[in-house]
Amino acid sequence: MQQWAALIDLAIGRHCLDCGRVGQVWCDRCLHRVLDVHPRLTPGGQSVVAAARYAGSVPTAIVAHKEQGHLALAAPLGRLLVAAMVVPPEGVGRSAPVLVPVPSTRAASRTRGQDHARRLARAVGALTALPVEPALRWSRQVHDQAALSARSRSENVRHAMSASPPPRVGARAWLVDDVMTTGATLDEGVRALETAGWPVAGVSVVATVDARSALARRDGLR
Ligand SMILES: [Zn+2]
Repeated sequence: MQQWAALIDLAIGRHCLDCGRVGQVWCDRCLHRVLDVHPRLTPGGQSVVAAARYAGSVPTAIVAHKEQGHLALAAPLGRLLVAAMVVPPEGVGRSAPVLVPVPSTRAASRTRGQDHARRLARAVGALTALPVEPALRWSRQVHDQAALSARSRSENVRHAMSASPPPRVGARAWLVDDVMTTGATLDEGVRALETAGWPVAGVSVVATVDARSALARRDGLR
């Protein structure tokens, strides 16, 4: 019963998931505390901007949104993602980008019954008035990345996505996702978009996992 009460509280935003204060599902103060905008490079050399580290209350929020369908968390996670949408100087004055979410794998969508990155992109769209275009899809089956080493992750997703072409001439994609571990999936998303004719204006994620420590833990090295 207690667990249900906690879930309902979280779903309707009565208590902050971090400090427990009444009012917001993840309060402004706690959201600001996790904000740590930083750059990362993917194995393919793509630069990515992240809003936070995968630590503190960030994993709680991301997992509750992704695995447990707590829709109310899309808004605060979207606010974090907006903070990671740093526009490069050469991008100022160009046309506004189109938000393209990294697609969930078919198996993951089936299990969770939803596409969390698309929901995040919509939350960012609501905050920024940028259009959302779910242009990417998986074109073949891939294994769950969590079970793989860094090199296997890249091989697992290589040439596994395809993209629909830009909806109009001059449209630029901004790739978004919730978590970056090694960045292999982001590399594949960028490759598929560019192959379909999209210029990629930027790549942003809510949080970065320290890939080395995550993989080391998985391999029992620490
Ligand atoms: Zn709080």
